Amino acid sequence: MREGRIIKGIGGFYYIDYDGITYECKARGIFRKNKMTPMVGDYVVFSVTDEEKLLGMIEEIKERETELIRPPVANVDQAIVVFAITQPDPNLALLDRFIVLAESQRLEIAICINKIDLADEEEQAKLKKIYEATGYPVIFTTKENKASIDEIKKLLAGKTTVFAGPSGVGKSTLLNRIQSNLVLQTGEISAKNARGKHTTRHVELIPLQSSGWVVDTPGFSSLTVDFMEVEELSDTFREFDEYREGCQYLSCIHENEPRCGVKTAVEEGDIPQSRYTSYLQLLEEIRKNRRY
Ligand code: GDP
Ligand code: ZN
Repeated sequence: MREGRIIKGIGGFYYIDYDGITYECKARGIFRKNKMTPMVGDYVVFSVTDEEKLLGMIEEIKERETELIRPPVANVDQAIVVFAITQPDPNLALLDRFIVLAESQRLEIAICINKIDLADEEEQAKLKKIYEATGYPVIFTTKENKASIDEIKKLLAGKTTVFAGPSGVGKSTLLNRIQSNLVLQTGEISAKNARGKHTTRHVELIPLQSSGWVVDTPGFSSLTVDFMEVEELSDTFREFDEYREGCQYLSCIHENEPRCGVKTAVEEGDIPQSRYTSYLQLLEEIRKNRRY
């Protein structure tokens, strides 16, 4: 028996990475009975049925630490949220939404601000000031600067990472600088091909030469947060934490309550206005869904 990791699944076949060698495996029927279908990212125990042709059979699926739905990948550790400093200008409400979505999946988070060759230091300082209080690493990159690419490499080491962020910010370019075969798939998930048939894209894990894995499809194609609870949402705004003790009510959601440490911190400039505005918008979105 061997242990490997599923990096791709197509038509009932699972491709298992075992120390850089890929085995084509089938799964035993038993998993279907357990309602446990192998998924990309799973760590599995498999037996080799043909060593020459590299064929095998999955015998056991290891317990999953995390399970993303879109893209469907198990055992992702980290989301790197990528935005550009300009072209396109960063949409902070969207950036905050990505952070909340990643938090809701219990992922570690890093923020990458790319294309810093196109803006001056003042713009960088502004973003740095807003996000450093979150405690997430914030790194500034440009495709032409090797040192900044190396910073991303360091973040990727030993982890399974999904990249998230709007299109055009430079995700594919960055990944391509990290490793030459690493290009993100883009475009429609289920685009029709020339003959009008739907082509389903398959999510894939790409092993890094350095160590670690990258999901080849950008994360969070569904951007709604309406599945979350209000309390959960306020927990994901980490810089709010230290001001909560100023709230009169334990259950304060920092909206219309009379004495609220978070609101005071916003008024005094200790919490950035843009973060608080994002919070209120997401709160409203969750509420709307609960009203019916
Ligand atoms: P993606 O949609 O996020 O994968 O973005 P791409 O990697 O396709 O990049 C979009 C465009 O931005 C391309 O024209 C890239 O050449 C350009 N680009 C990517 N990184 C940088 C950068 O660091 N600086 C500048 N000036 N342009 C960049
Ligand atoms: Zn409060």
